[in-house]
Amino acid sequence: MVTPKIHAAILASPGMGHLIPTMELAKRLTTHHGFDVTVFIVTTDSSDSDRTTTSKILQQTSNFNGINVVVTPPVDVSDKLDPNNPSLGLRIVLTMFESLPYIQSQILSMKFPPSVLIVDLFGTMVLPMARDLHMSTYVFFATNAWFSAVSIYLPFITNEAFSRHANDHEPLLIPGCEPLRFEDTLETFVAPWGPIHEGYVEAVKEILSVDGILMNTWQDLEPAAIKAVTENGILGQFAKGPVYSIGPLVRTVEPKEKTEGEKLILSWLDKQPDESVIYLSFGSGGTMSEAQMRELAYGLELSKQRFIWVVRQPMEEDASAAFFNTGKGGDGLAVVDYLPEGFVNRTSELGICVPMWAPQAEILKHPATGGFVTHCGWNSVLESILSGVPMVAWPLYAEQKMNATLLSEELGVAVRVKATDGGMVCREQIAMLIRRVMVDEDDICMRVKVKEYKLSGEKALSMFGSSHESLCQMAKDCEVHLHLNSEAKCRGA
Ligand code: UDP
Repeated sequence: MVTPKIHAAILASPGMGHLIPTMELAKRLTTHHGFDVTVFIVTTDSSDSDRTTTSKILQQTSNFNGINVVVTPPVDVSDKLDPNNPSLGLRIVLTMFESLPYIQSQILSMKFPPSVLIVDLFGTMVLPMARDLHMSTYVFFATNAWFSAVSIYLPFITNEAFSRHANDHEPLLIPGCEPLRFEDTLETFVAPWGPIHEGYVEAVKEILSVDGILMNTWQDLEPAAIKAVTENGILGQFAKGPVYSIGPLVRTVEPKEKTEGEKLILSWLDKQPDESVIYLSFGSGGTMSEAQMRELAYGLELSKQRFIWVVRQPMEEDASAAFFNTGKGGDGLAVVDYLPEGFVNRTSELGICVPMWAPQAEILKHPATGGFVTHCGWNSVLESILSGVPMVAWPLYAEQKMNATLLSEELGVAVRVKATDGGMVCREQIAMLIRRVMVDEDDICMRVKVKEYKLSGEKALSMFGSSHESLCQMAKDCEVHLHLNSEAKCRGA
């Protein structure tokens, strides 16, 4: 009997940081495990420029056989949000809810309907529908095992412990893992009785009953946290299905037509000595205040290092302000208008400023790149590690502070910025940290360590590597579920 091909539907919630690892998972399942994959890309009503970035990502994936892409119609949820507190997470969740009927109708109308549904952290509201349709259900934590562990344990943390965390700044204790210090916590964990916290706990309860959990990490990077989430005596006892470490899934550099801007950046890099350029970028959504941006510019100048800096329009209150608008600043100003007077002229021999969006994967892989000032989004972290590039960790929002701690304290591949009491990171510190990563002899071990992790990440994904084997196991488990679910369907269960 020929085993039928498995068709998986994967949902990418809004945001480049969610779309990119989803597409990588889709590629991996089609090329290495023979799946057919439909990727649903949930979109917001954001600008044309955001759509341009999305289509760039899609162009890079369009030559992959077996991937079918469905872009959901954009929805506007702004009338449901508090204008004074427009939580990023809430906006994503509401957009997912609004897109649910469209996704369901698309799945129901497919000739070869998917038997597997994979959602990310923001897509758990689709899981009940998938169960009704007898699909196997998976959640893809496109992040590390430590954050996954904290999330899995969330429903079991008492209100008292949350209260001591929020009010007395006590760490949250997570079995088998490093505790979560107050300085690294998330908004969700310190506002325990608000709708955002309750919504997250409900989402985690859904996650615990799925057929499997996927994490974008690998055995040698986080052995203790992976042990905690997989072993029965620790956190593994809470999830119904197995937990698979399948990373590092990162964007690969593919030959493609480059834009004029991209050609300019890459040909400039070609002319620089090896490991001499520091790359600065704060992900698809990271922004900072005008004062902080100026301080960063002065710090960069003081460091006297070659650089490529992705510059965004400054925002005073919201560090994730560009999350839904990755293309251009909407105010019509050029990047030089946000920077100290004369900065661009003074540094013209040393570096380049790129407005809004740069070909990050290509820049990090380039031999001339020797360091990365990053907001510690998990995709950026993995891209840096897999390029053997040490980091200056400058976390801004979401779980990025946890990522910064992991990188600087556990893995030893980054140094971390420390804001003063006023919340600013000063120019002298910025210059000192950049120099530590780029030139200080004492910190050379960071570069050595990151290169070791690069090799171990590549090994994990190669044939018989831990992550490759883990995804093979997940594929086998999907086959078993396919048979069981079709039997259940026949019985009318
Ligand atoms: N990215 C890029 N060019 C940019 C900024 C970001 O290509 O100028 C890509 C980056 O390579 C990464 C993703 O966008 O793959 C950002 O994901 P991450 O998890 O680092 O951060 P997020 O944007 O989700 O905060």
